[in-house]
Amino acid sequence: MVELIKKKRDGHVLTAQDIKTIISGYLSGEIPDYQIAAWLMAVYFQGLNDDETAFLTDAMMRSGDMIDLSAIPGIKVDKHSTGGVGDKTTLILAPLVAAAGVPVAKMSGRGLGHTGGTLDKFESVPGFRVEMTAEEFIDKVKKHNIAICSQNNRLVPADKKLYALRDVTGTVDNISLIASSVMSKKLACGADAIVIDLKMGDGAFIKNIADAEKLANIMINTARKMNRQLMAVISGMEEPLGFAVGNALEVKEAIDTLKGHGPDDLTSLCLNLGSYMLELAGRTKNHEEGMALLQSLINNGQAFEKFVELIESQHGDVEVVKNTALLPKAPLTFEYKSKFTGYISHLSAMDIGLASVKLGAGRETKESPIDHSAGIVLTKKVGAYVKVGDTLAILHAGNAAFFEKATEYLDVAYTFTETEPMKAPLIFKTMH
Ligand code: URA
Repeated sequence: MVELIKKKRDGHVLTAQDIKTIISGYLSGEIPDYQIAAWLMAVYFQGLNDDETAFLTDAMMRSGDMIDLSAIPGIKVDKHSTGGVGDKTTLILAPLVAAAGVPVAKMSGRGLGHTGGTLDKFESVPGFRVEMTAEEFIDKVKKHNIAICSQNNRLVPADKKLYALRDVTGTVDNISLIASSVMSKKLACGADAIVIDLKMGDGAFIKNIADAEKLANIMINTARKMNRQLMAVISGMEEPLGFAVGNALEVKEAIDTLKGHGPDDLTSLCLNLGSYMLELAGRTKNHEEGMALLQSLINNGQAFEKFVELIESQHGDVEVVKNTALLPKAPLTFEYKSKFTGYISHLSAMDIGLASVKLGAGRETKESPIDHSAGIVLTKKVGAYVKVGDTLAILHAGNAAFFEKATEYLDVAYTFTETEPMKAPLIFKTMH
């Protein structure tokens, strides 16, 4: 392993065999965390070329079971976000698309760095189980058209281990590591078509359009090689999505959105991504038809009903989602007030994500427990005019000392201007 670390550190190209050796050695425990951490940092600085990225994706994909979804009729569509702040789209999209009659077999992850994770959010609902065998997963999709599972130790275990290590070694935001992580999971999960919500901006791992396009192309090419269809939607993550950041707080916002009264940006992104999923599945002929169908499923209550069915089928407490006042609630709240007067011209999703980690909503090390009730509810976002003393956000935590730490991030999260700022687009580009 020392030789392989030096090989990458010195900018040489790794062979398929080198990469297999690294992945299998890490999984078997022969290669310790510290050597993989050093290798990841070498990859971070030297990069992987397209072949090396494909070898890494393949080695990770084959590190555990591969799910065969062929027993489920129809085109199975999966969706994946590369990670953002306040990104609760899966909680809304999965039931929404399932309610439209397209089977959703979704493997999700946990929070990573300053970004939240879908599983942590779902687990805010007491009893909700995400661990299941491949058979159970397929049975649930057949019966309910929807299932959300975690990467248990048999599903892409190499990514599970690497993802957690990257999170705590500053090696998340590398295009090849992100592409192999996302694609190994999507390919092992067996969906026929995949929509990638490729987040770009301050709060995302990808900061600019050039890197976003590069990542999208790697994923599109990998999918093509494996005979799957992939659409990448490059969406903005300059400020958080919606108003809520933190697990139980986001579940409540997701439920509001499924019932038709969610924030505009979140609702619009879900309708757009969902419509692409329907198109790839052959359920609708064009984007407008998909958008209208999904909106009607929100309006007639079927999207929320599907969410309740999902919670029930995975042993979650249905009463809690029917009455969100029963969701985990932080004992303490703190109103964060503006020290300036003017328009909010920038609101850093990264700082808000980091502040919510300080409140207990995310993990600082891979073993850290998380507090499902902690987080932030923004009351104002970019474009809002505020005066000194207006409340900008409400912080939720279990310990008053956390407010002080979180406030340090909030103090630098906002930028103000005298003139009304231009709003950045929600979706920059779609690629397939
Ligand atoms: N999402 C993933 O699944 N993997 C990454 O590396 C980053 C975001």
